[in-house]
Amino acid sequence: VLRSRRVKSYDTIIIGGGIVGLALARELRARDAKRTIAVLDKEPALGRHASGRNSGVLHSGIYYPPASLKGRLCNEGARLMRAYCEEHGLPVAPTGKLIVPSREGEDAQLDSLLERARANGAQAEIVGEREIAELEPEAHSASGRALFSPNTCVVDPKAVMSHLGASLRDSGVDILLGCEFRVADDDTLLAGDQRLAYGTVINAAGLHADRVAQLFGCGLQYTILPFKGLYYQLDPNAPIKIRRLIYPVPDLRVPFLGVHFTVSTTGNVYAGPTAIPALGRENYRGTEGISPRDLTSIGATIVRQYASNKQGFRTLVHEEGRRFIKRYFADAARALVPRLKTEYLVPCTKVGIRAQLFDREKQELVMDFLVERGERSLHVLNAVSPGFTSAFSFARYVLDGLDRAA
Ligand SMILES: Cc1cc2nc3c(=O)[nH]c(=O)nc-3n(C[C@H](O)[C@H](O)[C@H](O)COP(=O)(O)OP(=O)(O)OC[C@H]3O[C@@H](n4cnc5c(N)ncnc54)[C@H](O)[C@@H]3O)c2cc1C
Repeated sequence: VLRSRRVKSYDTIIIGGGIVGLALARELRARDAKRTIAVLDKEPALGRHASGRNSGVLHSGIYYPPASLKGRLCNEGARLMRAYCEEHGLPVAPTGKLIVPSREGEDAQLDSLLERARANGAQAEIVGEREIAELEPEAHSASGRALFSPNTCVVDPKAVMSHLGASLRDSGVDILLGCEFRVADDDTLLAGDQRLAYGTVINAAGLHADRVAQLFGCGLQYTILPFKGLYYQLDPNAPIKIRRLIYPVPDLRVPFLGVHFTVSTTGNVYAGPTAIPALGRENYRGTEGISPRDLTSIGATIVRQYASNKQGFRTLVHEEGRRFIKRYFADAARALVPRLKTEYLVPCTKVGIRAQLFDREKQELVMDFLVERGERSLHVLNAVSPGFTSAFSFARYVLDGLDRAA
């Protein structure tokens, strides 16, 4: 397949320069100063997809089953990422987070979240009405109880990406931008107009990770089902001020957290993101990024899941689909902050798409991070939230696995 050209050779080539690819390059470099490493990204700059478009929340590990990778890696990842930001003078906002029942009957779920938090090593406590009012006067709990996570904080994802990119370059990692991986054979691959020889390939291609894996004969039972996250900004002139993160009690059958409030490191307040099935992997706006191939496969999966209602998919589509309409979006946000008026929410350009993996054999959304190995390749699939938080601990986990297998 590959015509002969001048070949540059690397011990490890990482496809995808999102936070996962960069964290893996950093960990590889920390383990071996001599290894030759290249990170390829098809975009002209780092952070053009999920890693530069997320809420920047360093989750503390509350939601995930203790045996899962998310449960095992999130808390440690948050500690490492926060330390990285503090060490390099990157902004960290110590907001803490309240999880509040937004309707009756969610208290038992709040207690299970507390148990999960404890099992995962995350600091969290149940607080009552008085403490809620002190912690975040705008937050409302339907039951008068909430789960408070004091360590949850917010970083600036774009600042992290650009600092990490620069420090990797300084450590001798080649970051090749505008360089789209297209095809590989046993020891070389074509990316952009370059032919590169590799020892090992690591696939961290986010929204395209399934297709990249499949070119190496891996991940055959999976496909990406993209979910769009739209945000509104709280008008800075609105007569309500929010200083902490406020989240609803999530439906744990699906890997989304529900519309919530986050505060950026500069103090901007956002409501969102939604989790609406997107019609294309990079369908950020209007009809952009929709291909006939994706449309057919995504459409068919949505229709099938809707019909079977597995994992409560029908409820998800109904609730999230309505949130395209501002009035319904505002209703979801108001369930957490009753004084919010619809007009306090102003449109903003912030939008991200989750690279959610769908298992075609089991016909369900994959809930945990997933790593598959090929002969000389390794594939990171389903690096969804808390993927940004967990990037450094995840990189250690992945490379420990590779070292053990070597
Ligand atoms: C709306 C939203 C909010 C989120 N909020 C949070 C949060 O608050 N906290 C948290 O921890 N996580 C959050 N997440 C999840 C987090 O953003 C992701 O887990 C993380 O960014 C995934 O990183 P990645 O490197 O796998 O993917 P990406 O950032 O998507 O990087 C993949 C890269 O691969 C490149 N690529 C793809 N195909 C090719 C190819 N063929 N050749 C070369 N390059 C290619 C792309 O250009 C891209 O840059 C959120 C996600 C979304 C969408």
